Amino acid sequence: MSKALETILEIDLSALTHNFNYLKSKLQPQTKFLAVVKAFAYGSDSVEIAKHLQKLNVDYFAVAYTQEGVVLRDAGITTPIIVLHPQSVNAQTLIDRCLEPSIYSAHVLSEFIKTAEAQSQKKYPVHIKFNTGLNRLGFKNNDIESLVASLKKTSSVKVKSLFSHLVASEDANESEFSNLQIERFKTIAKNFEEGTGIKPWLHMCNTSGILNYPEAHFDMVRSGIGLYGFGNSIEEDKNLKPIASLKSVISQIHEIEKGETVGYNRAYTSQGVERTATIPIGHADGISRIYGNENGFVIINGEKAYIIGNVCMDMIMVNITGINCKEGDEVIVFDATHTASNLAESAHTISYEILTAISQRVKRVFLPE
Ligand SMILES: *Cc1c(COP(=O)(O)O)cnc(C)c1O
Repeated sequence: MSKALETILEIDLSALTHNFNYLKSKLQPQTKFLAVVKAFAYGSDSVEIAKHLQKLNVDYFAVAYTQEGVVLRDAGITTPIIVLHPQSVNAQTLIDRCLEPSIYSAHVLSEFIKTAEAQSQKKYPVHIKFNTGLNRLGFKNNDIESLVASLKKTSSVKVKSLFSHLVASEDANESEFSNLQIERFKTIAKNFEEGTGIKPWLHMCNTSGILNYPEAHFDMVRSGIGLYGFGNSIEEDKNLKPIASLKSVISQIHEIEKGETVGYNRAYTSQGVERTATIPIGHADGISRIYGNENGFVIINGEKAYIIGNVCMDMIMVNITGINCKEGDEVIVFDATHTASNLAESAHTISYEILTAISQRVKRVFLPE
């Protein structure tokens, strides 16, 4: 870990190994592990993360959109990849790049079968998504009859898995609903198996599902946020290590008089003689304007420096009055101690959002194992 001399996202691959092993320790030995690497592996770097997890023998990857899967294939990733949210227009690309679609609607199914048949595909692997309560994507139990009928008419696709997604796996107050979802999913699986005579893999748990619903691990689990070091609870955060640290540097320090203003629209007014530091990171890098006006802060030499005024596209100004620091000193936006989760709380959001917002222009630096 060296001192940042510009804005960087530092990624600790040994922390990724730790998180993978910790989550795997929660599974039965036969349960497969799917790593969710959508959205640049939660804002880090999907290619480097996937390469590392492939070395650790992860069973599957998932991305949200087709193009994310294409990027992984271009980088030489050979592990199977599910595309969670494809569109009909992507069918050809999916087949060309050996990407396995989540089939979530009758329309997507019929369009995919059409393309697969035109290509003389046999038993192309697909994954059927069921809606058990999230009401976002997926078939319902009462769609099974027509789903089974469509599948029986073709040999071009093979259902490799059935899956669903928990609504509130991190929330103990919603355990009754989570259990209801699990029961619905079991019924769906039974009806599907009876209708088709095949027994695809089943999977339902995201990271919090892995930790809170061991009885619902089924054949595979799907983890995203846990791999990146967050467990959605104070207890589980202790067992995981954030893999990404967002660091920057003080570009310039200003001393301002009482009544002077800072930044666009004069949004901050000095209360006395104050010192401000300008940091080369702004809303174009993923620091939302929500963090401005003292909602968010950075850490300079161990102390909190609040963001004053409006967040600019390429800069923030922070209040360093009383903080011992100089131009060129390192600035921590978040790291393993001052976590993305803590920063997110200050703006009433969640770690997922701050992580995935880090834009591609921020240089990624990898710490070797
Ligand atoms: C994003 C996603 C996940 C991963 O969830 P985490 O809470 O990050 O572990 C799992 N399954 C589906 C369907 C998803 O969209």
